[in-house]
Amino acid sequence: MPSPPSSSVQDPAVPEFVVPDPAGEPGRAGRGRPGLSPSRANDFMQCPLLFRFRVIDKLPEPPSEAAARGTLVHSVLERLYDAPAADRSAAAARALLPGEWDRMRTAEPRYADLFTADADVAAWLAGAGDLIGTYFTLEDPTRLEPRERELFVETELDGGPLLRGVVDRLDVAPDGAMRVVDYKTGRSPRPGYEGSALFQMRFYALVLWRMRGEIPRMLQLVYLGDGQVLRHTPEEAELATTERRIRSIWAGIQATARTGDWRPRKSALCPWCAHQGICPAFGGTPPELQAGATELALGVNSQVSEASGVTAPSRSSG
Ligand code: SF4
Repeated sequence: MPSPPSSSVQDPAVPEFVVPDPAGEPGRAGRGRPGLSPSRANDFMQCPLLFRFRVIDKLPEPPSEAAARGTLVHSVLERLYDAPAADRSAAAARALLPGEWDRMRTAEPRYADLFTADADVAAWLAGAGDLIGTYFTLEDPTRLEPRERELFVETELDGGPLLRGVVDRLDVAPDGAMRVVDYKTGRSPRPGYEGSALFQMRFYALVLWRMRGEIPRMLQLVYLGDGQVLRHTPEEAELATTERRIRSIWAGIQATARTGDWRPRKSALCPWCAHQGICPAFGGTPPELQAGATELALGVNSQVSEASGVTAPSRSSG
């Protein structure tokens, strides 16, 4: 099977873990509350049933080599900037790969099932090394000093929803101008198909605007799969449009949650879906929703009695 499109080369468990973390995390207000990330918004637009599986059922997904490599490369690019500027060479970055891979496997035992032979691991790490090499053809990290890396961002729109995400890198110029940088280990979209990637970046720009009172000057997507960089200067009007779109998506999620009608939507991305075996569009049967799962995940009472499929009496029926 060919590599999945760039927008889907993300391990859903790391780092776009956004909705919701019941344990919360000190210093990150609202972390345990239902909210929306760009990835999960994209999930809902792609397929409501996929959104349900990920956000409400929280079904585990086996790691893929592509997603794990994406997580590994992100981790190395974050760690690279721990070193003094003069020491940020391609060789130094590649040298981080084995240690970061060990750290990933320790933190997430599910990665242990990815490979059975050492030779496969070596080839996979070499592929990650190639992506790192491409990175150095696109940016010179000895001349960059990121203000933030893996920055958790969060804001609440009036009347909801809570928006969250993790920005790979935030650069701030001496005049205060912000540049939001996101690394993609897949290939850049064809001209005219940048919408999904730009939605994610506009989402972050909107959140940063609300948090810091200023619109980022530049949104930059760095595609390591084919060595392309996509740059975009966001305007206030388009971020207002993005806000309306997010509200519309959230309204759609809430309406679907109330009815429990999480329909599959077949698309060209289905071959990379981990849940085809239980998808009605492919002859499968989804598990019953656990009682209270929708409210826990989304803060919305389902009108369908979960785990029974029976429509609950409306409040006004007395
Ligand atoms: S296989 Fe396709 S239609 Fe079915 S849940 Fe996955 S993405 Fe949705």
